[in-house]
Amino acid sequence: MSNVFYRSSKPYPTAVRGEGVYLYDDQGHRLLDGSSGALVANVGHGRAAVAEAMAAQARGLAFVHGSQFTSEVLETYATRLAHFLGLPDFRFWAVSGGSEANESAIKLARQYHVERGETGRFKVITRLPSYHGASLGALAASGMGARRELYTPLMNPDAWPKMPRPDPALAGAEDAERLRAVIEAAGPETVAAFMCEPVVGASDAGLAPADGYHARVAAICREYGVLFIADEVMSGMGRCGAPLAVRLGGPHPQGDVTPDIVVLGKGLAAGYAPLAGLMAGGEVYDTVMQGSGAFKHGFTYAGHPVSVAAGLSVLDIVEGEGLGEAARTRGAQLLTGLQALKARHPRVLEVRGHGLLLGVVLGDPATGEADPTPGVAERVAAAARECGLITYPGSGAHDGRRGDHLLLGPPLSISEAEVAEMLDMLDAALTASG
Ligand code: PMP
Repeated sequence: MSNVFYRSSKPYPTAVRGEGVYLYDDQGHRLLDGSSGALVANVGHGRAAVAEAMAAQARGLAFVHGSQFTSEVLETYATRLAHFLGLPDFRFWAVSGGSEANESAIKLARQYHVERGETGRFKVITRLPSYHGASLGALAASGMGARRELYTPLMNPDAWPKMPRPDPALAGAEDAERLRAVIEAAGPETVAAFMCEPVVGASDAGLAPADGYHARVAAICREYGVLFIADEVMSGMGRCGAPLAVRLGGPHPQGDVTPDIVVLGKGLAAGYAPLAGLMAGGEVYDTVMQGSGAFKHGFTYAGHPVSVAAGLSVLDIVEGEGLGEAARTRGAQLLTGLQALKARHPRVLEVRGHGLLLGVVLGDPATGEADPTPGVAERVAAAARECGLITYPGSGAHDGRRGDHLLLGPPLSISEAEVAEMLDMLDAALTASG
C-alpha cells in the first residue's frame, strides 16, 4: 500500500518530469499541461535558471524567521514586484499560499479598521460564486457551494455577505452598483472590505465583468470607507495579459481602480516554490504601523528566502521574455480557436476570459443551461487526458444549478504551435466524450 494520503480514491498517475508546457509520467506519456497545474506554472516546467537561483539561495541563506530578520532577496524582490505591478508605493507581505494570503488580507483589513477606532467593521463582502481558499476563513469568504457544504457551520455566517456574480450583459458601472445594496443591507458601519477575483478562476471559469466595473467598485468602497481587496491569486502576474487583471485596459476614465490590498499567489514563483502574498497600499500600512505598530499576524515560512529567490528568478523570466504580452497574443489565438470549437460542439455554451485565463462552459444545447448532471466537466477532462491534454474541470454549484466548466490556462510561455496542438486535443476530447 502507499502511505500517501491522496485527495480522493481515484488512481493518480505519477509525474516524473516537466519541460516547457509538457509533463511526463512514469508510463512514458507526454501530457500538454493546459492548466499549468491550476494556473500556477506560468513560466513553464523545467527552467534551469529558477532551479539554480533557488540552489544558490539555499547554499547562502536558506531560512530566517520573519519576526527577527528581513533578507536581501526579500528586499530586492518586494521592490521589483511593486514596480512590475505598477504599485510602487505598496508593501509586499509574503506568505506561502493563496489561502494564507487571503487570510492575511482579511485580518489586515479588520486590523486597519480597529486601528481607526471602527471596531464594528468585521464583515467581508464577497461574491457568489467565488473561491478564495481552503482554510476556514478563506472558505467562509468563498461562495463555492461544493467545497463549503461539508464543513458547515462555517465561522459566523453574518461575517460574509455575498454579492451576485458579475453579469457581463450589464454595463460595468451598473453591475458594480449592486455592491451598494449589499453594503447597505449589511450595515455600512459593519463592513470591513469587499473582495473579488477581477477575472474569476475555479468557481466561474473566465467570467469577467464589463468595462468600468472595477472603477465603480473602487469608488463605492471609498464612499463607504470599505477596503477593496482584489484577489489576483490566479489572475495576476501577467496571466490575463496585464500585470494585474483589475487594471486590464489601462487607466480608467471612470476613476482610479487601484485596490487597497492586492492578493497574489500561484504565478509568483510559478510553482517552483510556495510563494504568495499581499500588496498593501500606504494608507493601510501606515494606519497599522502608526496604531499598534505591528500587523499582529504571521506564519513561520513567510518570506522564505528560497521561495523568494524563486519568485525573483520567475519575475526575471516574465519581464525578460515579455510573458504578459505573450499571454495576450497566445490567449487571443486560444480564444479564437475555442470559438471555432463552440461552433462545432453545441455542448459548448460559452467561451470567455482574458489572456491565458479562459473558461469553456459546458451545458445543454437545448435549454442553454449549464448541465445539471454532475461530473460533465470531469468526463470531458478525462477524455482530454486520454488525448494528451490536462485541463482543470470545475463545477461550482451556485444559484441552485451546476455551472460545469473547464478552466484553461497553459504556461504563458506556450508557443503558437502548442496552442494549435491544445485545440486539436480538446476538439478530439469533446467528440470522444459526447
Ligand atoms: N484565490 C484564488 C482566486 C484561487 O484561485 C486560489 C486557488 N485556486 C486561492 C485563492 C487559494 O490559493 P491556495 O490554493 O494557494 O491556497
